[in-house]
Amino acid sequence: MKYPIIAYGDPVLRKKATAIEPDEYPHIKELVNDMFETMYNARGVGLAAPQIGLSMRLFVVDATPFDDEEPELANFKKAFINAQIIDETGEEWGFNEGCLSIPDVREDVYRKPTIKISYYDENWKHHEDTISGMAARIIQHEYDHIEGKLFTDKLSPLRKRLIEKRLGDISKGAVKVDYRMKFPNAKKGR
Ligand SMILES: [Zn+2]
Repeated sequence: MKYPIIAYGDPVLRKKATAIEPDEYPHIKELVNDMFETMYNARGVGLAAPQIGLSMRLFVVDATPFDDEEPELANFKKAFINAQIIDETGEEWGFNEGCLSIPDVREDVYRKPTIKISYYDENWKHHEDTISGMAARIIQHEYDHIEGKLFTDKLSPLRKRLIEKRLGDISKGAVKVDYRMKFPNAKKGR
């Protein structure tokens, strides 16, 4: 099942998401599959639960499109439950990021290259991994979502000012997008 993706401006994208208990979500694998389906349909490489309106600490990542540059990403498809980034290290590097909740906006974002992260997978197996490069960047972006942050928060005041109107337009639904979205400030149909 594909969910509509929540657009910029919805308060759910600004809430710090809450941890999940295993018995609370017996169908977590189904939800994870639906999130991958929703993400692939929108040609994304990551999707966080708040982006489908669920304020819970869950996100999915598939970094395989980047395996030409980083061959070790060939099978990097993972779900992250109750993730905690323990450490971020290295010299910050820039990359032009986008977000399925903010269509048509791409900006250079600077992040540290290596993270240490603790999380559970969809089988409730615990992991503590050190991850670098593009996979780390995607995880940092998705992790920000479960903390109620967006990549646009990291821009300079000037860049923020330059995209302000487009962000407002997105929240009203004034953007062309070929996947289903939910716009917080859309005018109701007459
Ligand atoms: Zn995003």
